[in-house]
Amino acid sequence: MIPAQFDYVAPVTLDEALSLLAEHQDEAKILAGGHSLIPAMKLRFAQPALLVDIGRLKDLAYIREEGGQVRVGAMTTHYQLESSARLREICPLLPECAAAIGDVQVRNKGTIGGSLAHSDPAADWPAAILALDAEMIVVSAVGERAIPASDFFVDMLTTALAPNEILREIRVPLPPPRTGHAYAKLPHPASGFAVVGVAASVTRGADGTCESASVGVTGVSVKAYRARGVELALKGGALGQQEIAGAATHAADGVDLNEDLAASADYRRHLAEVYARRAIERAASRVS
Ligand SMILES: Cc1cc2nc3c(=O)[nH]c(=O)nc-3n(C[C@H](O)[C@H](O)[C@H](O)COP(=O)(O)OP(=O)(O)OC[C@H]3O[C@@H](n4cnc5c(N)ncnc54)[C@H](O)[C@@H]3O)c2cc1C
Repeated sequence: MIPAQFDYVAPVTLDEALSLLAEHQDEAKILAGGHSLIPAMKLRFAQPALLVDIGRLKDLAYIREEGGQVRVGAMTTHYQLESSARLREICPLLPECAAAIGDVQVRNKGTIGGSLAHSDPAADWPAAILALDAEMIVVSAVGERAIPASDFFVDMLTTALAPNEILREIRVPLPPPRTGHAYAKLPHPASGFAVVGVAASVTRGADGTCESASVGVTGVSVKAYRARGVELALKGGALGQQEIAGAATHAADGVDLNEDLAASADYRRHLAEVYARRAIERAASRVS
């Protein structure tokens, strides 16, 4: 449980952090809340030669409304998102998801950017960020680019971030009227991570039917994904118990299922369906 030897720097500006990454590339790793990276280093799964601690970049921790979006700085902690009264009004899925993460200590130190960049297959944020159709703003020493959430999660613990890039901001479009959200999760009894977690965003038409739905699933496969089969089955239909249950049967369509001590592949498929149904029912009931 002792990490391999490493050097440590704590830059005070984003530009400084980016030039360190440009110089050291694969040899360097960003340190945010440290709640995933430090355990990985202690187990020697990660052995970076240089840690670039961005904890002093306080201007990367914010929640703003701008351009029809909620903009969240990558260093915003889970707790800051959980406790935002304004977010509960305008984008309640963010605080609901944040509150489901680990325990108070984890939520106080862990950051949304760190969680997304880590892309743990059982992390909560990826499900919500996919369901909200968010956009990741990433920066490097040579510029900035936007990556849609649906292209961001590439594989187990792998994202579209290049070694010289920092995730700077997450942009979430403000939900349209008549939209309800929910996050439903079966937490692992020891760690709190999602054995299965489903985030749903449901928009009703004026007649109450489903105008659109987006569903993000975590814990089920090597990476979080959009359950497109569920979304298609819901679109245009009534949002009664039967219709939602029918759509939820597609929650694990087309994915390779994880299998571990917490749940077999078959049980996970079952859980995906059950938690998709619960999340969609709750989201549909929350449309005001
Ligand atoms: C006991 C325990 C229980 C937990 N339970 C849960 C849970 O229930 N649900 C859940 O989702 N998570 C859980 N976590 C994980 C927790 O949410 C972490 O905080 C989170 O996954 C990582 O965020 P961090 O800020 O700590 O990142 P770090 O650990 O500092 O970094 C994680 C990775 O992301 C990279 N990185 C960090 N920030 C950036 C950035 N801005 N740009 C580019 N790369 C970056 C780092 O280089 C590293 O590879 C738990 C952790 C612990 C220790």
